[in-house]
Amino acid sequence: MVDNSSADEVRMPEPPAPPLEAPSAPLEAPSASEPLVVRTDADAKDGLSKCPACGATQISLNIATGMLRCGYCRHEWQTANAMQSLGLDGDIGLLRGVTVGSGSADIVPSTDEVVTLKCTACGAEVVIDTANSLQARCHWCRNTLSMNEQLPNGAVPDMVLPFSLTKDEAVKRIAEFVGKRKFFAHPRFRSEFNPENVLGVYLPYMVVDVNASAVFRGQGEHQTRSYTVKSGDDEERRYDADLYDVRREFDLHVDDLTVESSAERRDQSMSRNTNNIINSIMPFDVDKSVRYDANYLAGFTSERRDTNVADLAETVTAQTRDIARYKTLETISFYDRGVRWDEERLDVHGQRWVSAYLPVWLYSYYEQKGGGRGLLHYVAVNGRTGETMGSVPLHHGKLLAVSAAVEVVGVILFLIFMLLGR
Ligand SMILES: [Zn+2]
Ligand SMILES: [Zn+2]
Repeated sequence: MVDNSSADEVRMPEPPAPPLEAPSAPLEAPSASEPLVVRTDADAKDGLSKCPACGATQISLNIATGMLRCGYCRHEWQTANAMQSLGLDGDIGLLRGVTVGSGSADIVPSTDEVVTLKCTACGAEVVIDTANSLQARCHWCRNTLSMNEQLPNGAVPDMVLPFSLTKDEAVKRIAEFVGKRKFFAHPRFRSEFNPENVLGVYLPYMVVDVNASAVFRGQGEHQTRSYTVKSGDDEERRYDADLYDVRREFDLHVDDLTVESSAERRDQSMSRNTNNIINSIMPFDVDKSVRYDANYLAGFTSERRDTNVADLAETVTAQTRDIARYKTLETISFYDRGVRWDEERLDVHGQRWVSAYLPVWLYSYYEQKGGGRGLLHYVAVNGRTGETMGSVPLHHGKLLAVSAAVEVVGVILFLIFMLLGR
């Protein structure tokens, strides 16, 4: 411990921000050592997926109960919790190397997206375009055929978090969100606005657990006295502070870090789309996810995962490091004049990756701009919590009018102050 309280000099507080270059051990590259793969579709069957009570294949999610429901006999049943039944929720502190669910395996680019299934009810061959859907209706016997076995094209995830917010509720949230912004909204958007056009979409995510340890080393200041000294006509405020060497070393268990696994969704460029809205409706209660079953997707659309564990590893490490930094804050309140970290180290001992479909209600609007350009606007509603965020095309004339009005008010206030000042 360094004590310089006797030094009577003014020390400016160091910002507690960490150095820009954060030294850290590189993440164990998932490709370097073979990951441990947990089979998550072991008992999955493609084709007819039947109601256990009556054998009908017309099955869909009942949002009100969170259970699958037979459209024919109304029988309802529950699918097992994914992480519990697959043993993907074990002690994070015991994780070593990389563990992945089989639905999170690397995508094989040449994999056919169009799959042909034989209908076991009538023998017809039914084609499913897995890029767009994981179910198709047999055109002869009208049974529904499902894709449940994992293809190496990212279309079938390890687990799915079913919608629990109804479409009616989502429509209400969207109308409320837009209603509050209607004054500034583009007139065309206002006239075309119809929240009934909302779509339920399952978006692809990776849910990651990280077992890491972190070491932070630096210096912190604790103020002991503050006083004023005169130098000539000026007064100067001075501080005495003790300077300490600070070291923090701790294990970090990150549970259910959720990262987007669609390359397009990860494109955060505001000029092309407003997708980063999706980030602001987090979090999802991913621990409630159930084992994947194509019937959960009936009546909804879904987006295929198109990134691999290796593509997302850097994002996960960066977020883990942010969490570690944030954790240190809880332990350094004594250093009221801040701590400067000179050294940061993050050692990742183990990770577990599980791919998931998470539920989002989407209202989209394509704003045509000059020169053939356009901007895609969204209002997104978390299909579990109802958290709502979005962007609305603006009426620039109204914006200018309001800012002009503010300026006029400003000038008037300025004149009043001038008059009062005399
Ligand atoms: Zn039934
Ligand atoms: Zn058939």
